[in-house]
Amino acid sequence: MKEGTAVDGLAARALRLVLPPRCLLCGAVGADGRDLCAGCAGDFALNAVCCPRCALPLQAPAPLCGECLKQEPPFASAWTPFRYEHPLDLLEARFKFRADLAAGRVLSALMIKRAAADAPMLPELLIPVPLHTARLRERGYNQALELAEPLARALAISLRADWLLRTRATPPQTGLDAKTRRRNLRGAFAVAAGATLPEHVALVDDVMTTGATLRECARVLRAAGVARVDVWALARAPGRSAVPSPASGRRGPEGPDEGTPE
Ligand SMILES: [Zn+2]
Ligand SMILES: [Zn+2]
Repeated sequence: MKEGTAVDGLAARALRLVLPPRCLLCGAVGADGRDLCAGCAGDFALNAVCCPRCALPLQAPAPLCGECLKQEPPFASAWTPFRYEHPLDLLEARFKFRADLAAGRVLSALMIKRAAADAPMLPELLIPVPLHTARLRERGYNQALELAEPLARALAISLRADWLLRTRATPPQTGLDAKTRRRNLRGAFAVAAGATLPEHVALVDDVMTTGATLRECARVLRAAGVARVDVWALARAPGRSAVPSPASGRRGPEGPDEGTPE
């Protein structure tokens, strides 16, 4: 974590002593010591009805979605407690594109709260989806790691952000079909030399859209000998629906995980 973030964290804690937390969405007094009020917290849509395998939001319960029937994903299960809808999209955009780490803390707290309620099967290790170093330098933080760290602490699971590497920057995925997207991601990830991966790993990302990135990461971990890979993401967007982007308004089928240059 950068020094600036630690200093900001201290300042935020000091301010907490004198000022009550404020809802980042509406400005009302925050609930449970968080920067989110109870009313706004109730507006987050749970991804309750979804494919049991890949967590794709469904209209009605089904044993598997069409995609999973066509091709079995390389991961064993997907846990994505929320749907990528309003108002989660607002906080996610602030977190991911405007370096608003307070929004990130609220999102990670929501994820931790859902972990207690949903009780997903716990892995031995959490691995955040890595950013390419050039991208990391530009942004200053990896949003997947920012979510994974508090989660690992809360659930007492080990976390390694240096065992899965993004070895190649991938071109922007906007406007590409799933097959092209998959091809672009081939060879983009590698397991670090000397990594001692356990039997059961969960990958962590912020938003899962088509899941192309998470699938490729899972494939690489499986190829490296991990027996079971699960994927965890804060929110799931329907793969084919338009997902708003903070930069260009509505932009088509890409979500924030795959629609931006990495
Ligand atoms: Zn509010
Ligand atoms: Zn599915």
